[in-house]
Amino acid sequence: MSPSTKASPYFDAKEKMSQSRRQRYYNQLLIEMIRLGYEKSSRVKKVFQERNIDPLMIESVGDLEKLPIISREELVRLEKEEPPYGGFSAKDVETDRIFTSPGPVYEPHLTSNDPIWARGYYAAGYRKGDVVLNAFSYHMVAAGLTFHDGLRRVGATVVPSGASTTENQVQLIRDLGVTCYTGTPSFLMAIINKAEEMGYHFKNDFKVKRASFVAEPLQPSLREKFEKVYGIDTYQMYGATEVGDIAYECEGKNGWHICEEVIVEIVDPSTGKQVNPGELGEVVVTRLNHLFFLFRFGTGDLSRIIEDRCSCGRTSVRLAGIFGRVGEATKVRGMFIAPSQLRAVSSRLGGPRLQAIVDRDGFKDILTLRLEIEGEGVENSSAHLQVENLFKEICTVKIDKLELIDKGTLTEKDSLIIDRRTWK
Ligand SMILES: [Zn+2]
Repeated sequence: MSPSTKASPYFDAKEKMSQSRRQRYYNQLLIEMIRLGYEKSSRVKKVFQERNIDPLMIESVGDLEKLPIISREELVRLEKEEPPYGGFSAKDVETDRIFTSPGPVYEPHLTSNDPIWARGYYAAGYRKGDVVLNAFSYHMVAAGLTFHDGLRRVGATVVPSGASTTENQVQLIRDLGVTCYTGTPSFLMAIINKAEEMGYHFKNDFKVKRASFVAEPLQPSLREKFEKVYGIDTYQMYGATEVGDIAYECEGKNGWHICEEVIVEIVDPSTGKQVNPGELGEVVVTRLNHLFFLFRFGTGDLSRIIEDRCSCGRTSVRLAGIFGRVGEATKVRGMFIAPSQLRAVSSRLGGPRLQAIVDRDGFKDILTLRLEIEGEGVENSSAHLQVENLFKEICTVKIDKLELIDKGTLTEKDSLIIDRRTWK
């Protein structure tokens, strides 16, 4: 499917589906994928038979809980057992490219019906007439070529610069009048530094006005630098090589919209069950397609869903960013908290050191937040309440005790979360 009209702010009409319609759409595509997968994929059939499940028992997104989560490590193991795709594709599957990524993991290229990465570029304002420097590797891995396809789908012209040197990239930006960049944020910064070293004024001498990043977190300070100092409008996209694009940022820049081609579940990694809306859990992805029947891929990333309507008008729910990896999170009263959430709380409070301590009192978890203050900082009760509310907003868990400690009590080496519970 291609952009509906040139002037539309949306890639296609799917981005405006009502919630009930999206639910039906997801369920329908999931049913098709599972039934076809059962017929064509030896692995899907095996998993269903082992668990004594009939494909007719998968009728909705909620039913996915009946199936196991497949991590990257597990996929590597299954692909070794049954090369090249672990039995997740038909034996005679036809594909125009086979990608590989470290592991090794092999992935068949999906059909051209799938607008992989195009939604993210479209939402970031990439259009016909743009000349885009694609600084992702084109060699072996899926990155270069799949981003390339997404860019072509929104009408942009692509410069496949890949892993060329920064000096080469500067030359291409200058000679070809490059207007947009896609790659990692750190590589764009390296290119800008090189340009300045070569005597250019990046903002005045070049035309780069937007950038879409993926594969590396965008630090807020770096984002501000790109936008304020260099006049580059920045966007984030999120995906995984095994399942393609998962979510993308719109101009609202408040969370990442989930792509219409994937079902995203946020699950408790210890049980595989979906958590309540808004709670932290592992991002688990099923890409709806008819070629590679990899269901419930566990990314190992932690996130939570934002359900509020977005200012851009897209109706899909959003991921609130990535809060770290599954192993780093600690479960408190059934909900996970991750170090990166605590860093976010600190940042919103102006950067004080803090530490969460989890204790067990009888059968109840007690969460204490230790917060460094200078002087009388948060002594009054309204300031207390403000900290508690902020913590609840970011971590979804309520703190039981707020302990104010003197500045300098904690050091950089202290853990952000200490779990003192014993399970006897
Ligand atoms: Zn939006």
